[in-house]
Amino acid sequence: MEIVIVGHGLAGAILAQNFIKKGVSVCVLEGNKPHAASKVSAGLINPLIGPKLNIPDDFADCMEENLAFFPEIEKASGETFLEPIELFRVFTSLVQQKKWESLSSPYQVSYLSDGESKALGVDCPFGLGKTSAWILNTEKFLEYSRFVLRSKGFYIEKPFEPEDWTGKPVIFCEGFRVTQNPWFQFLPFAPAQGEVLTIQSSLKYNLSNGTWHLCNPLSGTAKIGSSWKHERLEDGPDEDAKSQIIHKLGFIPNIQNQKIMKHSCGVRSGTRDRHPILGRHPEHPNYYIFNGFGSRGCTTLVKSAHEFIRFFLDDIPLPLSKNLMRFAQK
Ligand SMILES: Cc1cc2nc3c(=O)[nH]c(=O)nc-3n(C[C@H](O)[C@H](O)[C@H](O)COP(=O)(O)OP(=O)(O)OC[C@H]3O[C@@H](n4cnc5c(N)ncnc54)[C@H](O)[C@@H]3O)c2cc1C
Repeated sequence: MEIVIVGHGLAGAILAQNFIKKGVSVCVLEGNKPHAASKVSAGLINPLIGPKLNIPDDFADCMEENLAFFPEIEKASGETFLEPIELFRVFTSLVQQKKWESLSSPYQVSYLSDGESKALGVDCPFGLGKTSAWILNTEKFLEYSRFVLRSKGFYIEKPFEPEDWTGKPVIFCEGFRVTQNPWFQFLPFAPAQGEVLTIQSSLKYNLSNGTWHLCNPLSGTAKIGSSWKHERLEDGPDEDAKSQIIHKLGFIPNIQNQKIMKHSCGVRSGTRDRHPILGRHPEHPNYYIFNGFGSRGCTTLVKSAHEFIRFFLDDIPLPLSKNLMRFAQK
């Protein structure tokens, strides 16, 4: 059986590599559409998310699957894709500092007071929580995945045309372009544009207060981001978003004067209930969807790919929270 996968962003690539592991032939179509999320993703895998420092229920399970999948593919490639990092969570209020103190999580490393944060060269009156986190080098992983697919003759650089693939199972992994897909655009997607800057930075720490500074000490640069916008998704990078990102990182002295080397943007394929949407079209049985990974694709995609493949190959039901039938049933 040959499966057609539409889109080689992180979703299509992780799904394709997992199908190949199962011995299944795939044909991945990549249409090189602008504003894809994976091309700008910072790759941050952060256990404590949002202002409430919540640890998502599925985080430990997702990491277990990531820490099995990526090392295996790293061994085959000789490259490193998934790297553990130390991330300093910058508290913006006493409430956040107290929340940190009340947590009991394996991802908490230590608390640094205001005075200790000054020693790092940052200005954080409510202190910092040092956490264990990870970075997925998305660009490098996609490059390797493309190489593997090309070497097997499984990769075609062109957009999906239905008449070329009649009778074959097709899995749409089109990111926010799903909103132009005639079969799946009825689903409640909520795309959000986001921007990322690469700046010169001598600060050798990864920091986040919701907006992040992810350093690359080797090049003396950092990625900073990101922003959120639900309209004018394809207008490209904008000056307001740039100013917002810099303003939110005001705890880094002099950040507004750092040289900006690059300013890019992409569109996240979020969903209204914030869960991915996976499954089979209720009326077109050859058409499937694997989408809606929002701002957490690097954390959740491997686990979702395994769930999707079990559903596709072995008829094992998808978790209801991710199953597209949660909308078809209403
Ligand atoms: C600014 C920004 C920062 C982010 N940072 C993080 C982060 O730090 N951590 C994290 O976990 N997540 C992050 N994300 C989210 C993460 O990038 C996404 O969850 C993930 O990349 C989604 O991948 P995808 O494959 O679903 O979509 P995309 O990356 O958008 O890929 C879709 C692909 O499908 C192709 N395509 C579309 N339609 C067709 C068609 N008809 N035919 C052929 N090809 C087609 C496109 O060309 C594209 O390559 C960020 C997103 C943005 C925008």
